[in-house]
Amino acid sequence: MRKWRVMLLVCVVWLGLAGAARAQRADFSVGTIIAPAGTRVSGFLEVPKGADAGTRIPVTVIHGSKPGPLLALVAGTHGYEYSPILALQRFPAKVDPRELAGTIIVVHVANMPSFLGRTIYYSPVDSKNLNRVYPGKPDGTVSERIAATLTRDVIDRADYLVDLHCGDGNEALRPYSYWEAVGTPEVNEKSKQMVLAFGLDHIVIETQRPTDPARSVYTSTTAILRGKPAISTETGLLGRVDSNGADLAEAGILNLLRHFGMLPGVPQRVEHPIWIDRSEVLRSPATGIFHARVQPDQGVARGTLLGVLTDFFGNTVQEIRAPFSGIVLYVVATPPVSQGEPLGMIGHIKPE
Ligand SMILES: [Zn+2]
Repeated sequence: MRKWRVMLLVCVVWLGLAGAARAQRADFSVGTIIAPAGTRVSGFLEVPKGADAGTRIPVTVIHGSKPGPLLALVAGTHGYEYSPILALQRFPAKVDPRELAGTIIVVHVANMPSFLGRTIYYSPVDSKNLNRVYPGKPDGTVSERIAATLTRDVIDRADYLVDLHCGDGNEALRPYSYWEAVGTPEVNEKSKQMVLAFGLDHIVIETQRPTDPARSVYTSTTAILRGKPAISTETGLLGRVDSNGADLAEAGILNLLRHFGMLPGVPQRVEHPIWIDRSEVLRSPATGIFHARVQPDQGVARGTLLGVLTDFFGNTVQEIRAPFSGIVLYVVATPPVSQGEPLGMIGHIKPE
């Protein structure tokens, strides 16, 4: 009888230990970070010196106690886009890792040279646009090495990705997001559900992105062509510390966490999406001074004057007009423009 009891006790203890081992998720490691389950840990992804100086990417990992998907959030791809950067500064403290199912990689500032250098679009080091060099090159210039690091350490490991942008330092913008329908039907459908869960009601349908994973160009496209549903979002404008833009970004992320079942609660989805089925970025025909004549979110007819490009003596070089009827998603609202740079973006609203 006693021997039987001891055997039973051994069995119970062994089953208990095995269960505890199963419940305990493995650590999540990336860069300098080792995050045990149920913790939030910050550190850096190191981008080593190459043809030019190295840099580091500040990252927070929120590693949930429970199993679930891996969501990557990227801000600061463009370093003068502050609203999403500020949203990701305050967001991690609002998620209790003990309640979280899955893991979140928060990339606070992807492009540190651009952020500290206060540059729009381009890195002050190599004059490249980080969101045009994906999937990057480990032996390239610093923007290409940043892209290669993020592709390897973040995108390749993620199940889902959000690349958070806003109007750059020169762009007045109304909030919107991009749904890129360039993946498999399954990935496209999941990306569509993400964009609806993020909560911005104006959604640009993007079908012209690259389809070659070796030349994916954009952060979000890199994820999509690797089979990971992804979206890009735009909240905030003009290099402002804009609380509305940051609030929209943060609310969108929390909704996505509910959408994926990573946090409890019912996500709020866009009930009445305004699909933008045609869009065009207007580019400057010459270097000069741009005088915008429209505001973001303004409705325009085909031919409406959007702005006037002048030379440096005030002479009109060209009037810029709307190529089709739609709304102004963003417009360049500060004077300098170089040939080939954006002047604004017009979106055509898909009829219901
Ligand atoms: Zn951007």
